[in-house]
Parts: sequence; structure tokens; C-alpha cells
Amino acid sequence: MDNSKLCDAHCHPHDDVEHLDMIPKLKTGHITIMGVRQDDWDRVAEVTAQCASGRCIPSFGIHPWFLHRLMVDDNADPKTHYDQVLTAKIASEKQEMIEALERPFPREEWVANLKQRLADHPQAVVGEVGLDRAARLLPDGAIEWHGVKPTTVQTSIDHQMHVLRIQLEIAREFQRAVSVHCVQASGHLLQLLQELAVPSKKKDKSSSTALPPPVRLCIHSFVGSAGSIPQFLNVKGFSIYVSFSVAISGRLAKSKLQQLMCAIPEDRLLIESDLNSPQGQDEAMEEIVKVVAEARQWSIEQTIEQTYRNWQTFVGMQ
Ligand SMILES: [Zn+2]
Repeated sequence: MDNSKLCDAHCHPHDDVEHLDMIPKLKTGHITIMGVRQDDWDRVAEVTAQCASGRCIPSFGIHPWFLHRLMVDDNADPKTHYDQVLTAKIASEKQEMIEALERPFPREEWVANLKQRLADHPQAVVGEVGLDRAARLLPDGAIEWHGVKPTTVQTSIDHQMHVLRIQLEIAREFQRAVSVHCVQASGHLLQLLQELAVPSKKKDKSSSTALPPPVRLCIHSFVGSAGSIPQFLNVKGFSIYVSFSVAISGRLAKSKLQQLMCAIPEDRLLIESDLNSPQGQDEAMEEIVKVVAEARQWSIEQTIEQTYRNWQTFVGMQ
């Protein structure tokens, strides 16, 4: 297998701080490293700098699991902000959470931070961003899971959509690709993309300004229904890509996964590991190539070549 053309469209190897030195030595040719909160963006940038030029694309964004920390209305005080964006089945858990959480980041601050990263890294992707209707906050607002049962506290879908909209608008402004996490929220994501769709040329006849180029948006480790794919592909103003991993997509029944993989146009299909460590990353990439090859009835070489070209177009290398 020609690993030099393997492109991991979505991964977090920088999470494994003990093995950072393995990242520049991966056999996988190209990696797209996803930041998930403002405090891992430095590590994403450092790891990228250690990799040979063009091998690693940094990505900066705020993951749905951390969106409660972001304010969208800077006039609200912190407690009011948390009271508005958090929901819980057990009211006392919500009150305890509000007491435990650190101050939220003012919109002005996190937006400026994200824009600065994109300006500093002209190749960077916006990610990992998205929507998650299954995620629950950990006790005391912890961000690392240590086997402790999550609370019933969740971030409201309205707040998640508001922050995602802001991050997508920034991606459009900077003409960057986006990597999106979407769990139990396909309908909400579709609705948001449709709201952001650029006005059709017909309606916009009076204006002489050219339409912005479409935003390349990858739904990563997609596990939604194959039937929803055409709706996503039809949204104006976005070029939708879909990527698959052994770690997440591999949990689906084989027939469903194959059906999904076949529902994606060949020039929009990407592969990824979604791993949080460089350990096992090369193996996960070799494995997902085989799974895609079998589903699409492509040869291994053809699968590598096609996903290589797709990744280059996705990140804007060509
Ligand atoms: Zn991820």
C-alpha cells in the first residue's frame, strides 16, 4: 500500500502528549489535525510545524462538547449565560454545574482568537465544529472523561446552532474548509446549512457582487441515513464531503455502512482515523481504505488515489 498518499481527513493525535514525537514519523502521508477548544490550538500549531511542509493541515475550531463555555451575547453575565444555554433533567445538577464552571469566553474574545489562528495559518481548516444532541457534561465541568458518569446537563441545541453558525460564517469569510461533527442532529445541521445558503442568482439579480465560492464542508464519521445525503449535496453555497473512520463508522452494520459509502459521490468521499493518538493511526488508515475499496468495488490503489485527490480539493491544495 502506498501510504504516502493516504490522507487522514480528521484526527486528534496531539491529544496523546506522551507520543507527540511519533506524529511527524507517521507513514500516513497527510493528516488533518483537529483542534477542539481554544486551549489545544497551540499544540495543534506546534505539531503542524514539526511535520514536513504540506503533510499536516492544522484545524482550529470549538467542538460541540465545549460550546457552553462560549458566549454569543456579551451583555449577559456569566451565570445568566449558563442558565440560558444549559438544560438538565435534574435541576440540582444544573445549579451545581453553573457554580462549578469557569467563566465563559466573551464572543468578542473567542471570535477574535479563531480569526487570528486562521490568519496566522493560511492553510488551516475550521474544525472540529458541529452539533451533538447526545453529549452530556461531566461532573464539575471536567473536560477529560475518567470513568465518571456524565450528568444530565446538556448544551441547548439552539446555543449549539448559534455558535456553529458563527463558526461557519467565519469559514466562509476566510474561504476555509470545515470539518463537522454531527451526532443525532442531521436535521438541525441541514436546516442551518439551508439558512446559510447563498441567495440564488435569480433573486440576487440587482446586485453586481459575485457569489462567494462554496464552503467545502466535511461531515466526519458520518452515521446518518443514506437517504439524507442528497439533501445535503443539494444545499447551495456548500460543497459537502463525507468522511469515514473505522473507529466510528465501523460501528455500523456492514450493509448500512456500505450503502452509505455508495451514496457519496466519488469525488466527495474522504477517509479518516478520528483517533486521539498517533498509536494505531497508520493501521486505522490502512483498514478504512480496505473497507471503502470493498464497498465501492474499487481497487486499493484506486481508493487511495481517489481519496488523495478528494482530500487535496477539500483542504484547498489544488
Ligand atoms: Zn473528532
